[in-house]
Amino acid sequence: MEAAPTSTNEDRFAVGDGWALVLDGAGRYPGESGGCVHPVAWVVERLTAHLSACLPHPDRPLTTIVRSAIKATMADHGPTCDITDPLSPGATGAVARVGKDQVEWLVLGDAAVVIDQGANGCTSIVDDRVDHLPDAPVVEGRVRTYSPAYVATVRNQPNGFWVLGAVPDAADHALVGSLPRRSVDQVLLCSDGVSRLTERYAWTWREVFDLHATSGPEALIRAVRTAELDDPNPRRWRGKRHDDATVVVLRTDTGSD
Ligand SMILES: [Zn+2]
Repeated sequence: MEAAPTSTNEDRFAVGDGWALVLDGAGRYPGESGGCVHPVAWVVERLTAHLSACLPHPDRPLTTIVRSAIKATMADHGPTCDITDPLSPGATGAVARVGKDQVEWLVLGDAAVVIDQGANGCTSIVDDRVDHLPDAPVVEGRVRTYSPAYVATVRNQPNGFWVLGAVPDAADHALVGSLPRRSVDQVLLCSDGVSRLTERYAWTWREVFDLHATSGPEALIRAVRTAELDDPNPRRWRGKRHDDATVVVLRTDTGSD
């Protein structure tokens, strides 16, 4: 994991016996408090703690765990925060769990889970609803981004996009799935700071897995930074030139790396 240069890291990851998660702070929008006195990183930490407490329980569905973690985080805010604010800080997230027979995943927001099935290829699960909002107004500021007033109308709304934070029903809108464990070699979880290698810079997921296998997660982060620095026109992308970048690989044979 590495923060974007010159900024506070709002990514978090956690790994346990047969599970892993990556969260990426969502918000805060310029000039907006989101009704909350807490830093975005605090919200991400609370979500990480609550998810980490529940993920070791294999009988609880991932959507139930995510719903519980959102509710517990809402309670943590206390009376100083108005968590009904549509711009309340939250997180995008990727969760994976390797059970006795199944590999399960859950993705919400523009985090990613990538399943490596060896000769059967790699499958990425990316919740890209935020990139396909109809007629979304992009604002040309320090970075290109959606206007907060617009985001307030589509965030955690049907036909908009969903994040973990202050709306428990977001759990029901996550992308979830499972595969037989024997068919999966490894599972990669990452924030959008890493998935841009494939989305912007023409890497294949096989190349990502291969570099991880030979040189480890730090090499992947270095590859992201190199690609960003070599980008001749970073403002063609919505969002920051450098973003926090986090990657975790969960192997189905020996656990996590
Ligand atoms: Zn708060």
